[in-house]
Amino acid sequence: MNDILIKITIDETTTLPNVLRHIRELKGVLTATRVTEKQVVSAGMHRPVCNSCSCEMIPFVNGVGVLDHADFGPYSLWDADLWQCPKCGKEVIGGFGQGPISAHYEMGFQRMIEHYDKVGKLVHNHG
Ligand SMILES: [Zn+2]
Repeated sequence: MNDILIKITIDETTTLPNVLRHIRELKGVLTATRVTEKQVVSAGMHRPVCNSCSCEMIPFVNGVGVLDHADFGPYSLWDADLWQCPKCGKEVIGGFGQGPISAHYEMGFQRMIEHYDKVGKLVHNHG
């Protein structure tokens, strides 16, 4: 089995799930995984490896919000990706940006936290 990366740009009227469904229907295609521009940018990072299964994890959920907490409460918010082992299902969060997307002293901090929470992608980090 070989993995290849194909970059496809779709117009605004086309939905990504439909495109992926068509690709998966092609003869010989076993899986088609969505990889965002952010992952391509951060491609210098090695994919996480599952210690139990000795294989590379796959991006499972993009755009996870990781909220770091300090002693006094929420401190900074990071955008990252949730990776999953394709064999055992273990999950790890990686692919963090170069810095937080917002911090407690910035306007809009609470609103951004609420956005990630609303879409079910907020993860709390208590250190
Ligand atoms: Zn595993």
